[in-house]
Amino acid sequence: MSIKIGIIGIGAIGADHAKRITNSLTGASIVALNDVNLAQAHAVADTLQLNAKVYTDAHELINADDVDAILVTSWGPTHEEFVLSAIAANKYVFCEKPLATTAQGCKNIVDAELKAGKKLVQVGFMRPYDSGYQLLKQAITNGDIGEPLMVHCAHRNPEVPESYLTPMAIHDTLIHELDVLRWLLDDDYKSAQVVFPRKSRYAHSQLADPQIVLLETTKGVRIDVEVFVNCQYGYDIQCSVVGEEGIANLPEPQSLLIRKDAKLATTVLTDWKQRFIDAYDVELQDFIDGVKAQKLIGPTAWDGFAASIAADACVKAQESGQIESIEMPERPAFYQ
Ligand code: NAP
Repeated sequence: MSIKIGIIGIGAIGADHAKRITNSLTGASIVALNDVNLAQAHAVADTLQLNAKVYTDAHELINADDVDAILVTSWGPTHEEFVLSAIAANKYVFCEKPLATTAQGCKNIVDAELKAGKKLVQVGFMRPYDSGYQLLKQAITNGDIGEPLMVHCAHRNPEVPESYLTPMAIHDTLIHELDVLRWLLDDDYKSAQVVFPRKSRYAHSQLADPQIVLLETTKGVRIDVEVFVNCQYGYDIQCSVVGEEGIANLPEPQSLLIRKDAKLATTVLTDWKQRFIDAYDVELQDFIDGVKAQKLIGPTAWDGFAASIAADACVKAQESGQIESIEMPERPAFYQ
């Protein structure tokens, strides 16, 4: 059986996911598209030669009889509405991050899913699907480096547009660390602080860049994440877990090492899409397989909620300059 998918929002990542479902993944086809920019939806349908209906109304797409599952890849502020609508229609839904733009919005989705009594939502946190992070997780779980004590991370982008403002360093960028580190350490956050080093001259007036986010987990692990979104040289993700008996580092993406002109050189990626290209494939295949098996196992609505609570505390910490506590509600048994 092929899963019939409808996609809402055919921008950068929506078009990318449409391409991978059509050309790389198995077990699903795209039967419906919706975007506020209808021309864009038609263009993607034509380019990928999809036999898909273009809907002017996203809710009509969600409720269409021939749509089994939905991908929400529209603008973040629309996610909550479309995910709630999918749950109401009892349909599986893969939602790109953020699950909702507020913790309350995420909570609304958690509550709706609990009421439905069935896990219908997978959040587009792809890092747990990255082979490098999986090696790190294995090392921690096997006890190879002893109990984790500290984690040092960096999330660097070459540059960002003028529309990228200081809080976006948390909601758009750090959110991936907030999710993957919870998963990696099997822990929740207790507090957050943000400190601002000297500002880069490449950062525009409305953006503090770089920033250092300091987190503490409930087990007492201390985490520092450098978020530097105008670093100029590349898209660079670093993660080093310091344990009682050793240190495990996230592997660098595979790249040729060249000796030439008296130099030993390798390239650094510049495009985020390239860095996690395999992880996007695996996460979406996992969603398709989960829909088929009627059992989703990827990042849950609760993971989206937890990341959102931590993100809100980080933004508060940006503004206050203080250490802000992070209060995580008890996780319902449904999400254990
Ligand atoms: P994008 O290129 O702006 O695409 C969003 C698309 O959704 C646009 O075509 C937009 O149309 C459309 N849209 C906006 N409001 C809509 C609505 N009410 N109904 C239907 N379509 C609507 O953005 P993107 O980079 O693809 O990002 C989309 C989402 O994916 C964001 O939440 C982003 O955070 C997330 N994302 C996740 C990752 C990841 O690593 N997991 C990477 C990239 C993006 P207009 O352009 O006409 O407004």
